[in-house]
Amino acid sequence: MAHDAKKKDLLEWVTKHVDKLRGNEYYATGTTGKLLSTVLDGIHCLKSGPLGGDQQLGSLISEGKIDYLIFFWDPMTSQPHDVDVKALLRLSVLYDIPTACNRASADFMVSSGLFGEEYKPEVTDYSDYLNRRI
Ligand code: PGA
Repeated sequence: MAHDAKKKDLLEWVTKHVDKLRGNEYYATGTTGKLLSTVLDGIHCLKSGPLGGDQQLGSLISEGKIDYLIFFWDPMTSQPHDVDVKALLRLSVLYDIPTACNRASADFMVSSGLFGEEYKPEVTDYSDYLNRRI
């Protein structure tokens, strides 16, 4: 997904790496997904980010259905859904999902020998938290 000012960057990045990206399933926020569908198949479009798409992505992460997050967010514009953005990034850290927030990180991600391989995230054991007395 990408904020409006970064959508062109993400489209260029996907176009550049389309051979490596092909053959997978992707979930994208609505507007980003529609744009990326012009160059890549297998994209499921969720709601637009400000209308709940970020939260849908976060939910998919919490259900173990997302392997990578590529999110070109805009560091120069405040967003009406800043809290959703923060929540999404929090869940990507909580669930140890590889996360790329700019082109260089996304380049490193897609060039990694681990990209496309089976990889089990090391999610912290929160059983103490779950079993706490309240
Ligand atoms: P969009 O949402 O792809 O629907 O524009 C991205 C965002 O969170 O701003």
